Amino acid sequence: KARTVLLATEKAFAADAVAKIQAAFDESKYTMKKLENYKSKDELLAAVADVDAMIIRSDIVDAAVLEKAAKLKIVVRAGAGYDNIDLKACEAKSITAMNTPGQNANAVAELVFGMMLTSARNNYDGTSGFELVGRSIAFYGYGAVARAVGKLAAGFGMVLYAYDPYIPKDAIKKMGAEPVDTVADLFKHQYVSLHVPLTPETKESINKELLLKMPKGGTLINTARMEVVHEGQMLEVLKERPDFCYLCDVGFKAQEEAKAIVGDKYMKRVIFTKKKMGAQTIEANNNAGIAAANQIVGFFEKGETKFSLKA
Ligand code: NAD
Repeated sequence: KARTVLLATEKAFAADAVAKIQAAFDESKYTMKKLENYKSKDELLAAVADVDAMIIRSDIVDAAVLEKAAKLKIVVRAGAGYDNIDLKACEAKSITAMNTPGQNANAVAELVFGMMLTSARNNYDGTSGFELVGRSIAFYGYGAVARAVGKLAAGFGMVLYAYDPYIPKDAIKKMGAEPVDTVADLFKHQYVSLHVPLTPETKESINKELLLKMPKGGTLINTARMEVVHEGQMLEVLKERPDFCYLCDVGFKAQEEAKAIVGDKYMKRVIFTKKKMGAQTIEANNNAGIAAANQIVGFFEKGETKFSLKA
């Protein structure tokens, strides 16, 4: 049966990845419609009307979108985090939702090290920085991205710790990190790197009380989601602890205020990328985009539901 798939990306994939996604659908004789770099939700609402499937990135798929998508059977988030999909609304309309786990993990991990090195070397300003070897890094969540960061950290000679109650401790150990018992235990270490999904449990879970426990030079790295960190309390910590650093790839509403607090230490004490640059590599775009296309074809042609998400 001929299927139509919408590639709806408010932030477009690299052209090379789009060509590869197109090729995957051409092979199955599916039609691919593109809605890239769109500026208003109305464009998305119009584009979903006649499609059987959609591939999205951070694009919001809520009840209003599903309402207009009369034929939609499956939506695939090309990437890891799926807090932008209303899973309950999908379930109510029997629409399958999937993500493409692990496909962008290495990209995010390399960005983590880019930010750590920029901060440790004082943004290359001519002054003496420090080395990462022998320092400790603790992971909040030990899924695909954390483990990819862990591999690089081990290569740098760092010591690894992790908190992930959903993974048995011996498995965490086998995957190279020392398991810790509580979130608070993570904050004994110089680097804490966030790799949990945004859930009611993790929302604003990183607060002042935890951050003030960090040793001198304590550095929080956030490539997870903006809302996992309590923003108001982060500003207070930046004010009270002149040694503390926040390296952030996921947006921060009070960016200008944070920059004013750290003054000329911007890029040393705080780094704000242009929001979610973690997965923005040609490789991750290709991996996640092709995986999404293959998952859609597998779903229609073979009934594959391996990466289905539950509400
Ligand atoms: P993943 O699903 O492989 O790993 C998430 C891990 O968090 C799992 O092991 C899970 O058990 C654990 N977890 C869940 N709730 C927890 C809790 N309350 N406490 C401790 N651990 C908990 O996902 P991933 O690929 O590693 O990605 C992690 C997150 O990073 C995503 O959900 C996404 O929000 C974010 N992400 C951001 C970018 C970016 O561009 N910056 C790219 C990829 C992923």
